[in-house]
Amino acid sequence: MNIILIGPPGAGKGTQARILEEERGMVQLSTGDMLREARTSGTEMGKKVADIMDSGGLVTDEIVVGLIEEKLQSAEGDGFIFDGFPRTLAQAAALDDLLRANKQELGAVVEMKVDDDALVARITARSTCANCGEVYNDITRPIPDDGKCSVCGASDFKRRADDNEESLRTRLMEYYKKTAPLIGYYYHAGLLNPVNGLGEIDEVKAEIAASLGA
Ligand code: AMP
Repeated sequence: MNIILIGPPGAGKGTQARILEEERGMVQLSTGDMLREARTSGTEMGKKVADIMDSGGLVTDEIVVGLIEEKLQSAEGDGFIFDGFPRTLAQAAALDDLLRANKQELGAVVEMKVDDDALVARITARSTCANCGEVYNDITRPIPDDGKCSVCGASDFKRRADDNEESLRTRLMEYYKKTAPLIGYYYHAGLLNPVNGLGEIDEVKAEIAASLGA
């Protein structure tokens, strides 16, 4: 089954996507991760999007749709988890077309609901393992005492350049202006499953499982 995780920055989409990958063999397709990878490897596209990403704005639909199109053709697994994509109505329409062309369909759209105050606290406390991308949080899920990632054992952690209050304000505004309309779009398509994203990781995981019917 292919699913979309939709929600504001810091709602926990990446964390839940990684759990779904591990437990169900699904494949996470995160346009944010793809764009950060393009920046790290110094591609022309990576350079072009760097400033926009750091400010919290959205990169063009054309770029992210191109990234997803490429992955849909090359990635294999037990269903895709679209994480951070689509973020505009135009991207949602493009995804519909891409899935149709690949003889695939969407099974569900999980909306992770979290209020803004919690988002600021979560995001400014967030870090990830530089090696495997495991997500940590100074308050709710601190890096282990031995300073090593609990998944891969690496000891290098990083914070995202856009995880600061100013970028977050822009990211939230972009979310409410351009992404929130997708909630109506998928509700209308009969695919929307709202879950409370404020709970513990395992509670949210259980809610998502229930909403997917498994
Ligand atoms: P994320 O890791 O999903 O929070 O994305 C980080 C940043 O990458 C966003 O703030 C945008 O600048 C850019 N980005 C990621 N996904 C998209 C998308 N689907 N459409 C436009 N910009 C995106």
